[in-house]
Amino acid sequence: MRAAVLKAYGQPFVVEELPDPKPGPGQAVLKVSRCGVCGSDLHMSSGHGLNFPLDTVLGHEFSGEVVEVGQGVSRLKVGDLATAMPMTGCGRCPACQANDPFRCADRVSLTAGYAEYVLVGERSAARLPAMVSLADAALTEPLACGLRGAERAALSPGARVLVIGAGAIGLAAAYWSRRLGAGKVAVSARTDRAAHIAAYMGADAFVRADADLSAAAAEALGGPPDVVFECVGAPGMFAQAVDCVRPDGTVCVLGFCTVPDSFVPSDALAKEARVVFALAYDRAAFERSLAVMDAGDVAARAMVTSTVSLDAFPAAFQALRGPTDQCKVLLDPWA
Ligand SMILES: [Zn+2]
Ligand SMILES: [Zn+2]
Repeated sequence: MRAAVLKAYGQPFVVEELPDPKPGPGQAVLKVSRCGVCGSDLHMSSGHGLNFPLDTVLGHEFSGEVVEVGQGVSRLKVGDLATAMPMTGCGRCPACQANDPFRCADRVSLTAGYAEYVLVGERSAARLPAMVSLADAALTEPLACGLRGAERAALSPGARVLVIGAGAIGLAAAYWSRRLGAGKVAVSARTDRAAHIAAYMGADAFVRADADLSAAAAEALGGPPDVVFECVGAPGMFAQAVDCVRPDGTVCVLGFCTVPDSFVPSDALAKEARVVFALAYDRAAFERSLAVMDAGDVAARAMVTSTVSLDAFPAAFQALRGPTDQCKVLLDPWA
């Protein structure tokens, strides 16, 4: 099969011929229909901070058709359309029993979706509900991340919410805040290129992240935010989130900052801010994200700004490392 391979940090992927994946026990092979580019893939192939090893195929936001199943697989069959959580747990530990494989100490990651075929674990896979297309299904993963954040932040009805960052994760946080009963939702970013997407997905206001975000956000929301989602993942953003949140409010970190950051603890102390981190999602959040799309709420489609072929993919991915007008870029390896 053909796949986009990480050959050098910060450099374009190289499309190479690799052996087709073979499903082990409990695994299946999907013929990839779409695979979304995630900000974490950009971070972890940059050469700064935490990185994937070289010669790796990345990509964990995929959907496709089951073309082969391994030994003992009973919940998937050839021809099924599916997506999958890109982690499979041991199936026995408390985290796995709670359907939360990302918290399993013995999890195996299957994150090689920038390819024509990808392995999935049967336990982590989900067949697509009737009304969810393969293209929409690739958005399940980022939507589920936003849902996890909203759950971890214990968002209460009527809450004032500020989302810092208008990438897919920030937009997903705004999307779920709106649907889980937030009173007002503001999204902030350095440019307003995603303002219309944020509005479409549920934001009431868009705030340019200039020097005094705290004041601008409070004005847009009618008061300082009860919950701030940090969805940028760059140094300085956590401190900015603390600066914006109301006293006794909650900062929920979804941004994937892989380099050291500094902040002044007494700034958070003075507000007795609650700080939570949210990574990935459990099976319930993943399935709920599929279910909302099945029910006809496909606002998340607005995030998709381009779909590219495997040949065009290395350059398209590379372009996302700099200033860009793109939001969610999808790979269609068979285009
Ligand atoms: Zn992702
Ligand atoms: Zn486990």
